[in-house]
Amino acid sequence: RFVFLCFWAASTEAVYMKYKDPKQPLGVRIKDLIWRMTLEEKIGQMMQIERGFASADVIRKYYIGSVLSGGGSVPAPKASAEAWVDMVNEFQRGALSTRLGIPMIYGIDAVHGHNNVYKATIFPHNVGLGVTRDPVLVKKIGVATALEVRATGIPYAFAPCIAVCRDPRWGRCYESYSEDHKIVQAMTEIIPGLQGDIPANSRKGIPFVSGMTKIAACAKHFVGDGGTIKGIDENNTVIDLHGLLSVHMPAYIDSIRKGVSTVMVSYSSWNGKKMHANHDLVTGFLKDKLKFRGFVISDWLGIDKITSPPHANYSYSVQAGILTGIDMVMVPQDFVEFLNDLTFQAKNKIIPMSRIDDAVKRILRVKFMMGLFEKPLADLSLVNQLGSQEHRELAREAVRKSLVLLKNGKTIANPLLPLPKKASKILVAGSHADNLGYQCGGWTIEWQGLGGNDLTIGTTILTAINNNVDPSTRVVYNENPDVEFVKSNKFSYAIVVVGEHAYSEMYGDSQNLTIAKPGVSTIHNVCGAVQCVVIIVSGRPVVIEPHLATMDALVAAWLPGTEGQGIADLLFGDYGFTGKLARTWFKTVDQLPMNVGDPHYDPLFPFGFGLMTKPLRDN
Ligand code: BGC
Repeated sequence: RFVFLCFWAASTEAVYMKYKDPKQPLGVRIKDLIWRMTLEEKIGQMMQIERGFASADVIRKYYIGSVLSGGGSVPAPKASAEAWVDMVNEFQRGALSTRLGIPMIYGIDAVHGHNNVYKATIFPHNVGLGVTRDPVLVKKIGVATALEVRATGIPYAFAPCIAVCRDPRWGRCYESYSEDHKIVQAMTEIIPGLQGDIPANSRKGIPFVSGMTKIAACAKHFVGDGGTIKGIDENNTVIDLHGLLSVHMPAYIDSIRKGVSTVMVSYSSWNGKKMHANHDLVTGFLKDKLKFRGFVISDWLGIDKITSPPHANYSYSVQAGILTGIDMVMVPQDFVEFLNDLTFQAKNKIIPMSRIDDAVKRILRVKFMMGLFEKPLADLSLVNQLGSQEHRELAREAVRKSLVLLKNGKTIANPLLPLPKKASKILVAGSHADNLGYQCGGWTIEWQGLGGNDLTIGTTILTAINNNVDPSTRVVYNENPDVEFVKSNKFSYAIVVVGEHAYSEMYGDSQNLTIAKPGVSTIHNVCGAVQCVVIIVSGRPVVIEPHLATMDALVAAWLPGTEGQGIADLLFGDYGFTGKLARTWFKTVDQLPMNVGDPHYDPLFPFGFGLMTKPLRDN
C-alpha cells in the first residue's frame, strides 16, 4: 500500500517541489534543486554551447545549461525578432523537457545595443561612450539594450566590456570606455541599466531584480585584458600587483557592488600566467575577497587556450579551468568531450564535488534571480522595442555627446564649425561618408562587422548631412575626388569622412594605426583645395599629425553606430560640441603605450582635450 501511494504521488503533477515554488527563499530553492540533481545534470548546467550546435534534442540529452550566439552567430543575417524568439523558445523547450525542467539561459554579445540583430539600435561603441562621461546616459543605454535583447527572447548579454585599454594598438580598444579607470568605473552604470537596480531590501548585493525587461550582464574580461604588451590581443599583461589592482581591478569592484550577474575571464595572461588558470585571482580575489556571488564564465575556447597550442591537453585544461573557479564553460564545438572529461574527473575526485556544487549553485542563483523558472519562454510583447524611435533618439544623443572637436579653424579667430546649412554647393568625400558598416564597426551583425549600407537600418553621415542642410544647398558626393575636381567645382566647403575599416578582436591589432586607404590622399586632395572638416571614424586614435596642418577642422567620431544624424546635429550647430577625449591622442606610434600621467607624456591632443561650440539655434 505504501509503495502504491509513493508511486501515485510521484506520477501526479501534485508533487510539491520546493525549488519550483517562487514563495520559497532563494537559498531554499537552490538547495532543494541541487539536492535532486545527478552529476550529469550538474555538469550539463556548466556547459554553454554555440547556437549552431544546439537543438532541443541536444539540450535535453546533455542537460545543457546555456546556449550562445558567439561572435555574431545569427539564425539569418536579417532574421526578425519573431524568428529569434522562436529559436530561443525552441531551445528552451528542450531544457524544460528534462527531468527537472531547469531552464537554459541564452547569451549574446550585445556590446553596443543588440548588435547581432537586424534593425536593432546600434549605439556608439564604448570608446565613444567614455567621451560622454555621462553615467546617466549610459544607464539609459543599458535600459534600452535590455529591452531590445529581451524583445528577441534573450535574457543575457556578454556586456559590458570594462577593459581599461592602455594601448590603442589593441584591436579591442574600442570596446573599452577609456584609458582612465575612473571613467570606466563611472560607466559601469550600464549594469543597473541592463539588469535593474538592486532592490533596497536585498541582502548582500545579490544580483538583481527579475523581470522580463531586464537581462543578466557580464563584466569582461577579468582581468587586465587592456594592458597587454604592444596591445597584442590575448597576450601578456606585465604589471605589478599594485598596478593591476589600481588600474584594471577597480571597475570590477564597482560592477560587483552594482550586482553584476556574471564575470567573463580574459584570454590574456598576467605576468605570464593565463587568467583562465589563475586561481588566486578568480577564486581568491574575485569570489572570496570581493564576494562576487554570480557565476564566472570562461571565454570562448578559453580553457582550451590554457595550453599552447590550444587543446593540447584537454583534460588538464578542464581540470585547471574548473579548479581555478570557472563555473560555466563557453564550450567549444566538442562539448561532449568536455562533458565526459569533467564527469570522469568528478567521479574520480580529481575535481571535488564541492567545486561542482559551487559552480551549479551560482548558475542556478542567476537563473532564479532572473525569473527564468517562472517564465522561461519568451513572448512577442516587446517586439516593438527593437530599433524603436525612442531608442534611436537616445543613440543619436549619445552620438552628439561622444564626438570630440579636435581642431576648429586654421586660427582660433576663424572657426569653421558650425557649418552654414545654406551654401551654394558643398562636397562630401571619403570612404566612410556613406558606409553604415564602417560607422558601426566590429561586432555588428557579423563578428568582424561589414562594410556597406545593407547590413542593417540606420543613417549614414552622408544621408544625415543631406537631411540637415537647407534644401537650396547642393550636396555633391564623391568618394575619392582628385584635386582637379575639387578645384574646378568651387565648393563652399567640404566634409571629408575617413577612418578605419570594421574589425574585431585580434584582427584589429595594428602596429601602425593608419587611416584606411585611400583616406590620406582624400584628405590631401580635398583639404588642399577647399576649406574642409575631416571626420575620423575609428575605434581609437589614429596617425593624424602629418595631415593636421592641411585640415581646417578635425572631428573624432569614433564608431558612432546607426544614428549618423547625431553627427550632422553637431556639424551644423543644432547642438554644440561638448565631448572631451577619454583617450590620449598620440603623435607617433613609437610613443605607445602612452597614457595620461606617464612621465614621457607628449601627446598630439591630451586626455581631456576637446573644443566646444555653441549651438546656433537660428542656423
Ligand atoms: C570574446 C568575448 C565574447 C565571446 C563570445 C570571444 O571571442 O573574447 O568577448 O563574449 O567571444 O562571442
